Amino acid sequence: MLTPWYKFTPEETMKQLGSSPEGLRMQEVAIRQQQYGLNKLPEPKRKTLLQIFLGQFLSPLIYVLIAAAVISLFAGTAGDAAFIMSIIVINALLGTWQESKAEYNASALRNMVRVRARVRRAGQMVEIDAQELVPGDVVLLESGMKVPCDVRLAQVNELTVEEALLTGESLPVMKQEAALSHEVQSLGDRVNMAFAATTVLKGRAWGVATSTGIQTEMGKIADSLASSYAERPPLLQRMDRFASTISKVVLVVCVLLGGIGWWRGMEVMEIFLFMIAVAVSAIPEGLPVALTVVLSIGTSRMAKRNVIVRRLPAVEGLGSCTMIASDKTGTLTMDQQSVQALVLPDGQHLDVTGQGYNGSGQISTSTGSPAALTLPHFQPLLQAAVLCNEASLQLTASGWEYTGDPVDVALLALAYKAGVSPAYFLTGVEVEKMVPYESENKFSGVFYRQQGELCFWMKGAVEVIAEKLPPAQQGLLFQKTEALAKMGFRVIALAGGPVREVHLEGLPELSLAGIIGLIDPLREEAKAAVQECQAAGIEVAMVTGDHPETAFAIARQLGLAQTAQEVISGKELAQIQEQQPASFAQMLKGKHVFARVTPLQKKEIVEALKENGHFVAVTGDGANDAPALKAAHIGIAMGSGTDLAKDTASLIITDNNFASITAGVEEGRFTYNNLRNIIYMLLSTGAAELLLIACTLILGLELPFIAVQLLWLNLVTNGIQDVGLAFEKGDASVMKLPPRKPEEGIFNQLMIKQLLLSAVFIAGITLVVWYILTEVNHLEMAHARSTLMMLMVLLQNFHVLNCRSETKSLFKTPLRNNYLLVAGILTSQLLHIAASYIPFLATTLQLEPIYFEEWLKLVPTAMIIFVVMEVFKWLRRQRVLS
Ligand code: ADP
Ligand code: MG
Repeated sequence: MLTPWYKFTPEETMKQLGSSPEGLRMQEVAIRQQQYGLNKLPEPKRKTLLQIFLGQFLSPLIYVLIAAAVISLFAGTAGDAAFIMSIIVINALLGTWQESKAEYNASALRNMVRVRARVRRAGQMVEIDAQELVPGDVVLLESGMKVPCDVRLAQVNELTVEEALLTGESLPVMKQEAALSHEVQSLGDRVNMAFAATTVLKGRAWGVATSTGIQTEMGKIADSLASSYAERPPLLQRMDRFASTISKVVLVVCVLLGGIGWWRGMEVMEIFLFMIAVAVSAIPEGLPVALTVVLSIGTSRMAKRNVIVRRLPAVEGLGSCTMIASDKTGTLTMDQQSVQALVLPDGQHLDVTGQGYNGSGQISTSTGSPAALTLPHFQPLLQAAVLCNEASLQLTASGWEYTGDPVDVALLALAYKAGVSPAYFLTGVEVEKMVPYESENKFSGVFYRQQGELCFWMKGAVEVIAEKLPPAQQGLLFQKTEALAKMGFRVIALAGGPVREVHLEGLPELSLAGIIGLIDPLREEAKAAVQECQAAGIEVAMVTGDHPETAFAIARQLGLAQTAQEVISGKELAQIQEQQPASFAQMLKGKHVFARVTPLQKKEIVEALKENGHFVAVTGDGANDAPALKAAHIGIAMGSGTDLAKDTASLIITDNNFASITAGVEEGRFTYNNLRNIIYMLLSTGAAELLLIACTLILGLELPFIAVQLLWLNLVTNGIQDVGLAFEKGDASVMKLPPRKPEEGIFNQLMIKQLLLSAVFIAGITLVVWYILTEVNHLEMAHARSTLMMLMVLLQNFHVLNCRSETKSLFKTPLRNNYLLVAGILTSQLLHIAASYIPFLATTLQLEPIYFEEWLKLVPTAMIIFVVMEVFKWLRRQRVLS
């Protein structure tokens, strides 16, 4: 059923779909939800567990191991073959567990970003989850919104939509409501329709949902888009490449070692199996998966702290963030606007009481008596507040309900507080045209007709309103505004008067209707969070469209700025850019409050901060914040923000709270540390084994391990511990350190030093012990190997504890931060001890039980690794070593 809705008039469309401008009745909605299902696209197919499991076998290393198993089968050592096969399967199972956990987290996150829709149902404006839309619903569109379904537009107010995703056309499309008379093939030309998944850049409109879910134009092509977001973050790509380079190096080393072995008279078969085992142990094949797991754990921990990660690199980037440029309204403050002061055009002050979006509270004059509607100038001010308004607020059976911009809702509450409902001011009024609020204009307006006369109200930022007023009123306006703003009030002015035509250009001089002071309380946690950032070496700046005085008053309460020198306004910014553009970035140094800035300036500020060497995170919620979010290193959108901002951002803060950004930074630093710890652990133990074997071969000693022993070693020492490290909780002290330098890679000085130190130490001590066991004590070979195996397992298991922090002493890193790791270490240690008693394992691995006297020597010897790494950390803390 392909109805060419674009050829129908809005009225015909509504009739066809059984709807009306008042929207569907609730029973009808329920029926249609049954009939059409949820308005959503099918989930991209998730890999099944079996697919993930089979995927584990797709690696060259596994092929080599399988070959080794087959060869040992033919060489008559069936036990070895069975053992190798079980190693392969166990590895695959571990890999499957890790990868499916990561997959699960990723898909859980995708479901946390919900799209809301505003609809009119049974004559009431309501906000619903976009999934609940049905064909026939009356849908409202506004700037920044993602169009929730296909809509035949019925009334358009400068609606501009970006449809690149659907049509490939990157230029925004202006929409209209008139029916098209001819056949139009291309979607881009059906200008009276808005399509699901496209974004509203500007304007407002309402229309009728023509199709939802899979029936939409987007639904028809969804399959071809489904797999587009599985991109691996750069850090993981770098580590993939790194792991493959290491593999090649290890293989070359193995061939060289094999050469030495052959020269020493080893059998070819033995060399082959042994070298495969060396390669498997030394190659950090678990690295890529382990790192994926770290990131996935990091993102789910962030989600618990209200930070949703949309692009994984942001997790890595948060750790090096040096500047957070935050919105004021809603992020540092609660965005619970309440009107507390009114100033009438004659200069009279009125006080307003009451909290929240409801009608309780009172408007009183300076004498304390309730302001009567008959008070001169009072009624026009209220009418302006109610008419020039895009929100709704009403008392229903289930309490006060509202939709729309908090400022607008707060103004509607005024009417109730004056003792009437907003509808009171609408009698006899016919609205001709709304001029919707866009933050780059900083005002909204309404043309209406009352008793035959064409009139206009506008409300907005003081400077914008002042331009329209006679000079005498401008003076009053500025004087009153300054006083209110200094007290931290948000100030909005209203003005209006009769006009000749419905057109913003050529408006006659208007007259002031009043000034409104709103309070938007600080978020309780914001102050502490700002301080925490400052302690962590992160500068915090406020970027706001609000008045400089208001912004400064709030910044001072937050401890974000102390002096007026730290404040700069959009006007001053524009001046600098005009007169001395070269020093723009320079002039921003030391500024922490950017007030009355336009969205475009916000982007320029971000770029200048970057130029000053900052690693910038910036928050945004509006449609036109997208460029700034894109320009920043890390764009952060607010959960209540527009869909467009959320789509552009790399993080979403679900509770809009600045404190959550701080939490995100902390988790980002934890995650980065955990990544480093895993790399450190896997590489140092692998290198130690390789080094030990190379030394014994070169020195002509007996080989310390046989092939299967090496494979076993790899499994019991790395198999679980690497994931264990991924669960490390992290220590709040990371927030006392300065941010990591953005250009610094994983393999910095510290990493290289600690890697070499620990690898050389482990290899050295095992080499000495091996020499004593075989050349001094002349132990029987099977027992000597069993002893050395035990030492190696102990060393590596102990060393994992060193790897929990690169800087802090292991005695200051409480075990309760990572019970999983402790359990992993104990399990692997017990497993290894048990192996020498379990018949099949003991024979295949040629393991013998260790005597009590040997334990007494092995454990202290292995513990030296603690001493070595602790001394290294201590010297670095004392700054003896860098
Ligand atoms: P912020 O950066 O604090 O979010 P906004 O861009 O929302 O600032 O607001 C900037 C200015 O625009 C405010 O100081 C106010 O004067 C005006 N303003 C804000 N909301 C509205 C609205 N709904 N209608 C008219 N003017 C508004
Ligand atoms: Mg705002």
